[in-house]
Amino acid sequence: MRELPSSVRIREVGPRDGFQNEPETISAADKVRLIDMLSATGLRRIEVTSFVRPDVIPQLSDAAGVLTGVQRREGVAFSVLIPNQRGLERALELRERFDEVSVFLSASETHNQRNVNRGVEESLAGLEATLAAAGAAGLRREGVIATSFGCPYEGEVAPGRVLEIAERLAAAGCEEVGFGDTTGMANPRQVHGFFAAARERLTGIELTAHFHNTRGQGLANVVAALEEGCESFESSFGELGGCPVPPGSTGNVSSEDVVSMLHEMGVETGIELASLIEASRTAQGVLGRPLGAHVLRAGPVDWRRD
Ligand code: ZN
Repeated sequence: MRELPSSVRIREVGPRDGFQNEPETISAADKVRLIDMLSATGLRRIEVTSFVRPDVIPQLSDAAGVLTGVQRREGVAFSVLIPNQRGLERALELRERFDEVSVFLSASETHNQRNVNRGVEESLAGLEATLAAAGAAGLRREGVIATSFGCPYEGEVAPGRVLEIAERLAAAGCEEVGFGDTTGMANPRQVHGFFAAARERLTGIELTAHFHNTRGQGLANVVAALEEGCESFESSFGELGGCPVPPGSTGNVSSEDVVSMLHEMGVETGIELASLIEASRTAQGVLGRPLGAHVLRAGPVDWRRD
């Protein structure tokens, strides 16, 4: 087994991946309050919102208001999710409010069709232009590949195809490629094999793991990626989030569960766990229901500290 990384980078995606999938309407003021709390935890990367079409995802129709309202804090990079050129144009009206963009497509044809209504090649062609424009605006670029570890409609997704799409995104200017287990189908053995291959094939690119805990395997998959040297993860406070299609695809792996486990393993994140838990507690208050994160319920492991 490889030596574990001594520290990793965590991007909090709850304000986008989470809020997008909540049935309740969360006010822009509450979102701003929660993002400001997250910014104060030591997190250095936060995906704040998405400039998707408001009629498609009404939960994020307040993107401009949220991005304008949040406090900018030294050392915290804000990213926004961009579906296409039009979304980028809207985001660029607030260029000074964020640092990075994420673009996305699915590795499987059927999921891409159902999610964004076009084929994978058509998505790639569109994203190439969008990524070029984002680069010209001085933005750092992440390409996220959904259904990287399995598709709810097609089943197995060939890792070679995922890596080929990743290479295309890198060639189009992405400094970082994220691999999304969008509907929680990955298992740790598969993740080991995948990240070993990705590391070989994608040199000079930041590789990011984005796991969902839909079937309770999120943390195990984090460890598997970590053991292959992955140093960048995306997670969601409170275990908020999921995927719009198919229904029932709930739950990103929770940030506090990931942070707690990593700290117990001696892997640093720079995040203060107590502050993160406080942000999730506040989110529970806003949503009026308990959230799924384990550490949120149980509290941090504290037996070592007395
Ligand atoms: Zn996700």
